[in-house]
Amino acid sequence: MRLEHCDLVVIGGGPAGSTLAGLVKLYAPGRRVLLLEKATGPRHHVGESLLPGMVPVLQELGVFEKIDAAGFPRKIGANYQWGMSGKVWENDFNDINVSEMLARGGLPPRIEYSWQVRRSKYDEILLRRAEELGVEVVRGAVAEAPLEGPDGRIVGVRARRGGEILEARANLTADCGGQSGFLSRFRRVRDYNAGIKNVAGYAYWRGAKWKYEYSGHPDKTKIFICSVPDGWLWYIPIDQGVVSIGLVTGVERLKTEGGDLRALYDRAIAGCAEIAPLLTAASVVADFDGTGESFFSQSDWSYLSAASSGPGWLAAGDAAVFVDPILSSGVTLAHLSAHRAAYTALADWGEPSPETRRLLWEDYGRSCRESAAQFLALALFWYGQDRHAPNWWRKASEVQRAWLPAQMGDQTAFITVSAGLTRYYERALSAARLLEAGVPDPQEYPFYVSVLGRDKALESRAGAAPARTARPRLLFARAVETVFLPRPGEGRLQPVLRVRFLKSGSSDPVADAANPRLIVTRWHLAFLDGLEHGPDYAAALAAAAAAGAPEWWLKGPADWFVRELSLHGVLVFDSERPAEASR
Ligand SMILES: Cc1cc2nc3c(=O)[nH]c(=O)nc-3n(C[C@H](O)[C@H](O)[C@H](O)COP(=O)(O)OP(=O)(O)OC[C@H]3O[C@@H](n4cnc5c(N)ncnc54)[C@H](O)[C@@H]3O)c2cc1C
Repeated sequence: MRLEHCDLVVIGGGPAGSTLAGLVKLYAPGRRVLLLEKATGPRHHVGESLLPGMVPVLQELGVFEKIDAAGFPRKIGANYQWGMSGKVWENDFNDINVSEMLARGGLPPRIEYSWQVRRSKYDEILLRRAEELGVEVVRGAVAEAPLEGPDGRIVGVRARRGGEILEARANLTADCGGQSGFLSRFRRVRDYNAGIKNVAGYAYWRGAKWKYEYSGHPDKTKIFICSVPDGWLWYIPIDQGVVSIGLVTGVERLKTEGGDLRALYDRAIAGCAEIAPLLTAASVVADFDGTGESFFSQSDWSYLSAASSGPGWLAAGDAAVFVDPILSSGVTLAHLSAHRAAYTALADWGEPSPETRRLLWEDYGRSCRESAAQFLALALFWYGQDRHAPNWWRKASEVQRAWLPAQMGDQTAFITVSAGLTRYYERALSAARLLEAGVPDPQEYPFYVSVLGRDKALESRAGAAPARTARPRLLFARAVETVFLPRPGEGRLQPVLRVRFLKSGSSDPVADAANPRLIVTRWHLAFLDGLEHGPDYAAALAAAAAAGAPEWWLKGPADWFVRELSLHGVLVFDSERPAEASR
């Protein structure tokens, strides 16, 4: 038996595992990190259409250039043929001008595209990057059982590699084993969503025409999603010669149709007026990626985890959460959760206070659930009965407004979701200047209302400062939480206070996905108390002043805060008319 001692042992070398292990080594080169991957070499995997929202993580890992140069078709948007009209909903990532939004938050400009990838190649690039950073990757090692200490704490993992048993003892054990959820299953923390129980059948086609090819840019395309009577089809060029085509259908539907997924797949494609003509000269690849298979199936049940960590362990990526692929969110969530996991582990190791360590892990779990919940809320709506595209976009707007304190256009909101911009508001806020002072700089406030630079209507809607005699009224209960914002590029987390308005009164992040969350200081909280209990706006300012808010804050940012609350729909002015009348 081989015995190893390390700081972190990671199970699984997919996007989550490589990201977590690589970032820990990047920021703590002295730590020993072991990664166990059951495959012996590059392995096939579903999940090929990526979102620009994950690009900053790749940049931080130092692997962006390599991936960009690997020849994967660039993805510049997501088009859907869905809903009543039969018309295609066109969504271009470029339309949301993310770079401008980030620049306003003090972050460097970013890339407005992602890629559609052959996963065996993509995942291998990431795993090699982790190795370059000093992660010890053991290929062909299958984790078989967690090791438990006498108090139930996970203290490592037992794995098998060929005939050899490997026991890796670690301060922290990370489950990045994908849907098989090595530890999360062991801990029984998975909550399946009864609303979406699907199954996918897919194959790879050689010689298929691209649905979207941009003249002059043979490497640019989009994912195409098409509703069919049996469910929906994805159409994803993953390299110049090969297109991935999959059918997603309900488990119940498959049963009533006789249980033959391949037959259903063939029928769906043959009957699809958008896709069938693209395949006239195409054929299914017989032995894709050396699997020996030409047709694949995969269960596709959405789940969140009641806990994404526990004593001695954490889960990231699919091991923690999984949302139906309708929005292509899986790999993005894997990178983002692993990024947060790495930052949390690093913070935990340097943190003397047990209470802060508890808060760190609590926030890690919340962060995993909340980012997945945004996609899940939309996916649930998608599979609902409402087939009017505008209602879909409105739902996206509702969900995004919880994070982006801006009343962006509904379709713009939808594009931000399809680009994977879930928690950019908080990432952008982690810009050093905002946090170092412990309070947002008033000059940064326009950022809140014009995060999406082209949505000019925002500025006018934000309007003038409210009259200070007005009586603002908060509409919803609120909860204050300590959360941690990543300081990208530093491997550190910054504790901040967050106020959450409980529109639905539920603490469940799925039902709660549309509830506004704002990063605040103690002055903001005193100000909110003043709004709740004082006779008017002036009383709220007095409460903030009593709590130590300086003059400049009371003069400028307080007004912006009030506007921001009204943009979020959590505050109304009861006495707007009397205040106007008194002028
Ligand atoms: C039908 C379908 C379509 C999808 N389409 C998309 C899409 O278009 N875009 C998108 O972003 N996402 C998509 N996804 C989701 C995507 O596949 C996953 O979210 C993503 O692969 C998660 O990455 P991960 O690193 O968490 O896990 P994985 O990529 O699954 O990696 C886990 C790794 O752990 C290894 N492993 C597992 N168990 C053990 C063990 N016991 N010991 C050692 N190693 C182990 C595995 O070999 C694997 O390499 C789709 C998913 C499904 C089901």
